[in-house]
Order: sequence, then structure tokens, then C-alpha cells
Amino acid sequence: MTLQELSQKLARKEISSMELTQNYFKRIQSLNPKINCYLTLCEETALKQAQASDQRRAEGKTIGLLDGIPIALKDIFITEDIRTTCGSKILENYIPPYEGSTALAFKNAGTVLLGKLNMDEFAMGSSNEFSAFGPVRNPWNLDCIPGGSSGGSAAAVAADLCAATMGTDTGGSIRQPASLCGVVGLKPTYGRVTRSGLIAFASSLDQAGPMTKDITDCAMLMNLVAGYDPKDSTSLNVPVPDYTASLNKSVKGMRIGIPKEYFIDGIDTQVATSVRNAAKKFEELGATVEEISLPNTKYAVPAYYIIAPAEASANLARFDGVRFGYRTPDPKDLLELYEKSRGHGFGAEVTMRIVIGTFVLSTGYYDSYYIKAQKVRTLIKNDFLNAFKNFDAILTPTSPTPAFKLGEKTDDPLKMYLSDIFTIPANLAGLPGLSLPCGFSKEGLPIGMQLIGKHLEESTLLQLGFTYEQATEWHKKRPAL
Ligand code: GLN
Repeated sequence: MTLQELSQKLARKEISSMELTQNYFKRIQSLNPKINCYLTLCEETALKQAQASDQRRAEGKTIGLLDGIPIALKDIFITEDIRTTCGSKILENYIPPYEGSTALAFKNAGTVLLGKLNMDEFAMGSSNEFSAFGPVRNPWNLDCIPGGSSGGSAAAVAADLCAATMGTDTGGSIRQPASLCGVVGLKPTYGRVTRSGLIAFASSLDQAGPMTKDITDCAMLMNLVAGYDPKDSTSLNVPVPDYTASLNKSVKGMRIGIPKEYFIDGIDTQVATSVRNAAKKFEELGATVEEISLPNTKYAVPAYYIIAPAEASANLARFDGVRFGYRTPDPKDLLELYEKSRGHGFGAEVTMRIVIGTFVLSTGYYDSYYIKAQKVRTLIKNDFLNAFKNFDAILTPTSPTPAFKLGEKTDDPLKMYLSDIFTIPANLAGLPGLSLPCGFSKEGLPIGMQLIGKHLEESTLLQLGFTYEQATEWHKKRPAL
């Protein structure tokens, strides 16, 4: 059931939060061994939260629409007294002493936290195979990856092991796994949703957002998490619309651009066809669709793989066995303490990113790599701003292929990096991007499309997504587990 359906059932007292929570744990017990999407379960605290919610309802003191609904969070969100690993051995035993802003928002809304979800280590990856705690499997085909880095989140929603969740997206980590698991994922405008209480990967790109079963649920979670947070210095202090209120507005006359650079060699033909069919559907629904050009698209992946590692190398300096994280037992001196703690704690992909990031920031290379990548970033942003002079939204595939097999790309970083070729540009430009289901491959794997919007125009994307959803059935399909 969706958040909306659960909320109604709870309101009509057809089910209690306690029963719901117990049902979710039963389902998790039977399916999580196969899917491996949960890293930590919070059964004891969850049952208490459920009981408290039922009590509030009995007394007529229900907090809001989400009160009593069981959710989960990607293990990058700081949760007070609950282990937060960020998918890394270096934080295997880290128990945060405070509640991050996102976790707090969910707690204050009366939701029940079932547990913390698997992810690529420090959110670096596109397949969830770089988790220190084993890969997550795609609920649609257990031999396939769920996407990454929010692979546990996408799989948990697709397999209904939680009602909805939050992921984070630095280069595609909400949208790409949402697309590969057949769920909805929204990366909001940079600054729209707080980054406070989020373990930082690349601070100028990171953004948290909902991963849900449908567009209405996505809008409901945006209503909860969007808005100014004084604890995040890049948080935008601007009014927030009611995201559910505008879903029903007509899309007649809206102008959608399809960038020709996004239909490249190597893109799966079934993906291309599904997105083209979605474009036709939008035309039937009254929007106009035209081809556009975003000429600097091909530089997005190389620019990202300089900027993101550069920021990561700085952010991850705090995991040194002194301030945070695993500490080697008997170092002979301070240098060895750092080397052994970090060497043991970080996996290969994270280590490679730190090395690349340190390199591109070092004297002599800073101008030719880092500064150049920043200039390219501006060009990419300008491409979008130009396009948005004449268009309301941009339609693209989310991922160039449906889910691939486990092990298929782990030996080839470039192949893996290209999984995010269509999602990275929106992060570089700070724009909102929504992924929603738009088809299935002949192998039965979900295909997703991406709608990119103007800064702070999440409601336009949700409106387009909702209208499409009303006219199609893709979002109603569930994996046969
Ligand atoms: N797959 C990309 C990377 O590995 C994006 C990850 C993300 O968005 N967190 O960096």
C-alpha cells in the first residue's frame, strides 16, 4: 500500500500502527535475507513508536497524515542512538549522539522507523556492490543489481519492506536506483531539502529526497522534508508550496524538451523506445514535446568525476580513527594510526576517489583539473538555463540500461560511472530531477524516465508525473517475490 492508502486505513481505524509495524517486520524477516536491503533493524524502538502513535490516535491527538506509518532511512542519515554506517566498515560501530534534521522531521511527524538501509560505501557507486555489508539484490530479478548508491532504499520500497524512504543523490543515487527498481525518486533542487544530518560525500552536489511507490507519496514526503533549515548553510530560505495541492493541475500547454544528446550510442533500445512512448503520452495529455540541444552534456561525467572526488577527499578526512571511525588497535606512531585505520576502514572504490580527489586539488594540477571542471560545470548549467527559457521541463531516460547483472561492471570503473550519464548533469546544475516508471524490458525489468525542472520547480515535475501516472499502469506493477 502507498503512504496515502496507509494513512487512510489508519485514519479509519481499519488497521493499527502496531499491526502494520509487526506485518512489516514479518515481511522483512522473510525477504531481507534474499534482498539484503536492511543493515540495521530497530524492532524494539519501532514497536514503541507504533504503540505511541496508536495511543495518540485513540486520544484524538494524531500528529498528521504520516503518523504511525512505518518508514526506513538510507544509512547515510544520522539517527540518534541508532547505528549509522554509511555502508562503510570505518563506521561499522558508529552510534550518532544526536538526531539529524531529516530523521528528526520523520520522528516529529509520528512515523515509525523500521531500520536503516544498505547503500554503496559513502554513497559512491551505481550498483550497491560497493557496500561493505554485501550487495543488495533487485526485487525484480535477484541476479541483478538494484542500482546505487541508494540501492537498499529502492529495493526496500519496490519489495514493500517499508512504506517509503529517503535517499540521497550526488550524481544520480536517488533517481538511478528508483528507475532500476520501478519506483519513484526525486532529487530536489540543491538547497531545497536540508543536508544537515547527512554524512557528506560531495557537499556542492549532495541532496536528499523521497523514494516512494508513486507520485502522490513523493509529494507527501516533500511536504515533510522541504524547507529552510538553519543548520545547513546552503539551505534556501524561500517559501515552500504544498506539493500535494497542485498534483491535479492540467499539463495542457506545458512545453517539454527532449535533448538529442541523451539518445546516444550504447543506450538500450528498449529504454529509448519507452521514453519516446512517454513523450507521445505527454503529447496526448496536452503538452507539447520538441527536440532540444544541451551541447555540453558529454563533459558532465568527466567534470563530475573531478569535482565529486575533490570534495569527497576533503569531507572524508574526518574519518581518521581519531575524530571519527574505526581505530587500528596498536599503531606504532601517529602516521601509522592514520594509515592503518583508514587503510583498513575504507573500501577500494572510496580509496580510489580520495586519491583522485587529492590529486586534482594538489598544486600544479588544481588549475588544469579542478578549476577547469568548475568552468565546465558552469557551461552545463547555462545549457539548462537556456533551454528553460522556452521549456517547462526536460524529458530524458534516467539510466541508459535496465538493471544489469551483479558483477557485470565491478571491474571496470568507467562502465560503472556511465550508469549515471543522464543523472549527473542535474546535480552539476543544482536542478530538480524526478524519476518515474515508464515501462518494462522484455526481461521484465523496470524502465524509468527522468523529468528535469527549473530551480525550485519540483511541483511542475510532480504535476507532470502525476498526470502521466493517472494515464498509465506502470507504477501499479509489483515484483512477484
Ligand atoms: N554513482 C555516482 C557516484 O558513484 C553517483 C553517486 C551518488 O549520487 N551518490 O559517484
